[in-house]
Amino acid sequence: MKYDVAIIGAGVVGALTARELMKYKLRVCVLEAKDDVALGASRANSGIVHGGFDPVEGTLKAKLNVAGTRIMKSLVKELDVHYKQNGSMVLAFCEEEKAHLQKLYDRGIANGVPELSIISGDEARAMEPALSENVVAALLCESSGIVCPYDLTIAAMGNAMDNGAELLCNFPVTGIEYADGVYTVKSAEKAVEATYVINSAGVGADEIAAMVGDKYTITPKKGEYMLLDRSEGPLVSHTIFQTPGVFGKGILVSPTADGNLLVGPTSELTEKGDLTTTLAGLDKIKAIAARSTEKVNYRKVITSFTGLRSSCADSEDFIIEFSKNAPKFIELVGIESPGLSSAPAIAEYVAEMLGADGLAMEANEAFNPTRVSCRHFGTLSMAEKNEMIKADPAFGHLICRCETVTEGEILAAIRQNPPARSLDAVKRRTRAGMGRCQGGFCTTFITELLAKEQGIPETEVTKFGGKSYMLCGKTK
Ligand SMILES: Cc1cc2nc3c(=O)[nH]c(=O)nc-3n(C[C@H](O)[C@H](O)[C@H](O)COP(=O)(O)OP(=O)(O)OC[C@H]3O[C@@H](n4cnc5c(N)ncnc54)[C@H](O)[C@@H]3O)c2cc1C
Repeated sequence: MKYDVAIIGAGVVGALTARELMKYKLRVCVLEAKDDVALGASRANSGIVHGGFDPVEGTLKAKLNVAGTRIMKSLVKELDVHYKQNGSMVLAFCEEEKAHLQKLYDRGIANGVPELSIISGDEARAMEPALSENVVAALLCESSGIVCPYDLTIAAMGNAMDNGAELLCNFPVTGIEYADGVYTVKSAEKAVEATYVINSAGVGADEIAAMVGDKYTITPKKGEYMLLDRSEGPLVSHTIFQTPGVFGKGILVSPTADGNLLVGPTSELTEKGDLTTTLAGLDKIKAIAARSTEKVNYRKVITSFTGLRSSCADSEDFIIEFSKNAPKFIELVGIESPGLSSAPAIAEYVAEMLGADGLAMEANEAFNPTRVSCRHFGTLSMAEKNEMIKADPAFGHLICRCETVTEGEILAAIRQNPPARSLDAVKRRTRAGMGRCQGGFCTTFITELLAKEQGIPETEVTKFGGKSYMLCGKTK
């Protein structure tokens, strides 16, 4: 089949773009190198839906951040994704930093950010008692929020697929040819044909661009984090940033949409593929975060992780443009922060570009914007849960004790679009294995369910695709 649009990369931008295009009568496929969606920057980031006071006025970042954050509020309801408008504070510790807050405030107003104000240190501490006595002022942005970034990506891709988009995983694009108005996008084993191609490959976007003769240089920057147990989530209710300055910028202390506490990230230039966490990085996080609050209980760290920013040496702004060398080819390059916040608006922007270029955009009357998440069960009342258990006893069978995840939710994750095919894919969809025991108790049960549902032996179940098998045979 020939597609109208082939999107390379199933991160939050590719997934939301696919969903946006399903509002029209179009044949769309998403080509993803890995075995699941949301395995690039969209998996490992801060999950902040930024207000939009940080990007410089007049940039695409400013425009799409503010628009994306506005769209996000209704989008998360349609997609049944965990989101909270918790607001953020940028802290100042001296008069010089306070002056910088004023600049950020002015920029925010110019960008059209709502619910922005500068408050005193005492006012900030009254709202956030864990804050340091040294805080003299804060920029309060009440319109910012927190979202689970991979949950959003999975839900967007699932909803796009429910509406007819196709997801082709394990499709690392290695070559692109163009002849007679048709692109052939190839991996080593497969190929698809499409009229339009969208390069949404994150850190790999420069390599995809080079396949059609476009030159960009991605200089990945790594960000390390520590994630703390849910017992620590209530330490702060707002996302706490610091004024950018000599102590580095961007180390935040924030609750996550799922109720954990997140501290990080660092910012170091690195190489593609470097997802290591280091003692030096984690020590740096602790030292800088201590300026905001000394009350983080690092004994409750349950995991550390790294995300890679797809910073582009050619521009500080998002690059969203038609290729200079190939027709009907859209480049999305340098989609670093605030890419998550901007993604809903980037999707609309790209759809407009396609329409303006002449792609027939006939409305799809059958488009269904809603999806019910397999994590929905946990949000129900006791009476509603009882009703569901009566209808399907699998919802009464607890599999993950730490995160209270039932067999019903795990089966839904395996059966729903985009289907979970590995232990980590189940974890991202349901949180089973994400609690303080990190899968010690539930892994064997989930392995059994994955094997049974896919009709494969348990020895073929993987942790994250490829050859990451969990078991090598039976002992008894
Ligand atoms: C440390 C960190 C913190 C951040 N914090 C925030 C934040 O708080 N708020 C915010 O708004 N933004 C934040 N961001 C930015 C945000 O995470 C990204 O802008 C967003 O996730 C980018 O999504 P994407 O879909 O463009 O890229 P990705 O999620 O990286 O997806 C690209 C996909 O392309 C695939 N791919 C690559 N090469 C190929 C190929 N050859 N063939 C097929 N597929 C390929 C990859 O496997 C990947 O799945 C942060 C980023 C980082 C790294």
